Amino acid sequence: MTPLQALQKYFGYSEFRLQQEDIINNILNKRDVLALMPTGGGKSLCYQLPAVLLDGLTIVISPLIALMKDQVDSLNVAGIPAAFYNSAQSLDEQSQVISKLNNNQIKLLYLAPERLFGTESKLISFLKTLPVVQIAIDEAHCISQWGHDFRPEYLMLAGLKKKFPDVPVIALTATADKLTQKDILDKLALHNPAVFVSSFNRANITYRVLPKRNSFDQLLDFLDNRRDESGIIYCLSRKSTEALAADLKAEGYLAEAYHAGLDNATKACNQEAFLRDDVKIVVATIAFGMGINKSNVRYVVHMDMPKNIEGYYQETGRAGRDGLPSGALLFFSPGDAIKLKEFAKVNDNPEQTQIMLNKLNDMVHYCQLPTCRRKFLLNYFDEQAPDNCGACDVCLSEFTRFDGTLIAQKALSAVSRLNQRFGSGYVIDFLRGSSSEKIREEHKQLKTYGVGADISKADWMRYLRELVALGYLQITEDIYPVLKLTEKSNPVLKGEQKVELIASQIIEEREKIELPFDTALLDLIKNTRRNMAQLENVPAYIIVSDATLVEIATYLPQSLNELRLISGFGDIKLARYGREFLATVNNYCKQHGFVSKMDQKSRKRERKSRVSKSDMPATMRSNDTRLVSFELFRSGKNINEIAAERSLSPTTIEGHLSHFVQTGELDVLALVAEAKIPAIKDAIESYGADRLAPLKEVLSDNYTYGEIKAVVAWMSVESRNKSQDKTK
Ligand code: ADP
Ligand code: ZN
Repeated sequence: MTPLQALQKYFGYSEFRLQQEDIINNILNKRDVLALMPTGGGKSLCYQLPAVLLDGLTIVISPLIALMKDQVDSLNVAGIPAAFYNSAQSLDEQSQVISKLNNNQIKLLYLAPERLFGTESKLISFLKTLPVVQIAIDEAHCISQWGHDFRPEYLMLAGLKKKFPDVPVIALTATADKLTQKDILDKLALHNPAVFVSSFNRANITYRVLPKRNSFDQLLDFLDNRRDESGIIYCLSRKSTEALAADLKAEGYLAEAYHAGLDNATKACNQEAFLRDDVKIVVATIAFGMGINKSNVRYVVHMDMPKNIEGYYQETGRAGRDGLPSGALLFFSPGDAIKLKEFAKVNDNPEQTQIMLNKLNDMVHYCQLPTCRRKFLLNYFDEQAPDNCGACDVCLSEFTRFDGTLIAQKALSAVSRLNQRFGSGYVIDFLRGSSSEKIREEHKQLKTYGVGADISKADWMRYLRELVALGYLQITEDIYPVLKLTEKSNPVLKGEQKVELIASQIIEEREKIELPFDTALLDLIKNTRRNMAQLENVPAYIIVSDATLVEIATYLPQSLNELRLISGFGDIKLARYGREFLATVNNYCKQHGFVSKMDQKSRKRERKSRVSKSDMPATMRSNDTRLVSFELFRSGKNINEIAAERSLSPTTIEGHLSHFVQTGELDVLALVAEAKIPAIKDAIESYGADRLAPLKEVLSDNYTYGEIKAVVAWMSVESRNKSQDKTK
């Protein structure tokens, strides 16, 4: 059997993701491998598939017992014999595993590192009597002190290669910084390893950061239309997880807390309820999640800023493992950053402390970005990315720049008049002429008092942040941060330097699953799945993923042969669960007079050429998102249809298409009615094309941003052509 055949047969997938195939081939050729892939990228498959193909036992080292159970359940459901061996089992269960191992009845054995190399462990000599063909080390970064998640027991794995010199070892991690990477290779003493670094882009996650104000209300806003979806909400302290879970319950949400201080029974119970969708929201400290493979987590919220980008990326990565659109939201307040500084100190280790502080600074920087968040994250992991991802709050906002010199002057002179001794809250109240008693009497006499009353508090907050980001102001790093001037302030105050600010008009959109699927049927097959899961005593997503159900509800397969073409149905799952799903679908279709739409489903093999962004090398990906929209447009879809299909806003799609007007590949008339062009052109010629907002204002509501953008693009072609004519 080839790897590809095994992929279809056991896992029900028709193509490999990222570098899975290469990785697998290396293992099959007995070469050591280090594989770096983002969370949700599909690491498990890289050793599970060789485990199925190879004749013998695969040992999987994994740090958490919870993870083992989940993985073993899903392997068994797919018809692959797997087991774990750990201290949570009874002696009876343990000896059952041993006897199965002796009879070669197990393909994958999951172990914690301390089990393997613990002082009185005889396990290793026992394992040496078995035909071990592969060793997989999951979460391999835990071996590195440079990483953010060092686990001393992982150091025991250093002796592994000596014990099993001829067995290929595959080390896997979602943490990719170079130092950690090198450390893993050194400590594990891998032989001539093949190293694979996949793209870390998680294209289906939309990143958002909101300034923390009244975070509970902000959270309720966010949750309002996500009531039926699963999510993880991270808090910094144990106490706040419990308080927030209680508050959410009071609002009618199915929420539970999870942190390391709870007793084991409560932890297990809350986790289990979450996996089984009986609890929708887990409010947790970072103790929760490593090892949670629940694939239908639709959002991850950080109520407080995480300590570093690595942690943040891993935590947000727990959203959307099934590939469906998902969200990551972070509430940021500069005060949190200061609190975290205290935690970053590592006793008696200035070097380690500095590493932690630098990581913290990167995190703060991320929260205050005026540019694409995804680009920052990918660059952080040494990966190229386009400037605009179309799926982070920055890219989803329509930015227009305007001359903010006057605003800047007001802010800077307020800071100066207040002798650079007050924080942004006070400065804003002062600027707005607040009559509050908090404002000192002598300040109320100053000329600058109240000069910014025409601007809202929220806007002032934004402007101040921007002025800081642009270097015209700075914030001290005290417990009570204070605004101060910089060397760039003076020229602005003297009127020698102009300042551009951003007026943002947020086009909020919610990540939706935009396939035209039948929601009523989806609910029905979810029920079918729930019943099966209860019978098998596993979480529902282990039977098949949400993405698989969405495909069924979209294409309405009517026979086992059609169902086989739905992603996620391997042979065993098809045999075990296929008929029951089909019964539900058949019934529903009969009732409503629907027929199969499988012919609309592009053949699985052909799907590669389409959207699959992450499959392309980073260098090719940069313009790809625009190209995808363009291809869809050329195939006859209109802007709204493309927006729906791609879960992007129509404005974003218009932006994509305008690009091709500019390159000359698309006629402007495809986007704008001919009759509208003269007026837009006129406006552009009078007001310039730098800022769209004033153009939109003079043109009124009959003209969309998209149309204006398209004409701007077209006119730039025209002028380019003209200037070329001139040079001829
Ligand atoms: P990781 O361990 O890297 O965080 P997982 O191994 O849990 O990610 O995989 C995430 C999800 O992607 C799982 O639901 C898995 O079944 C699915 N998956 C893995 N490989 C493929 C593939 N080639 N095609 C489709 N889905 C895949
Ligand atoms: Zn972006």
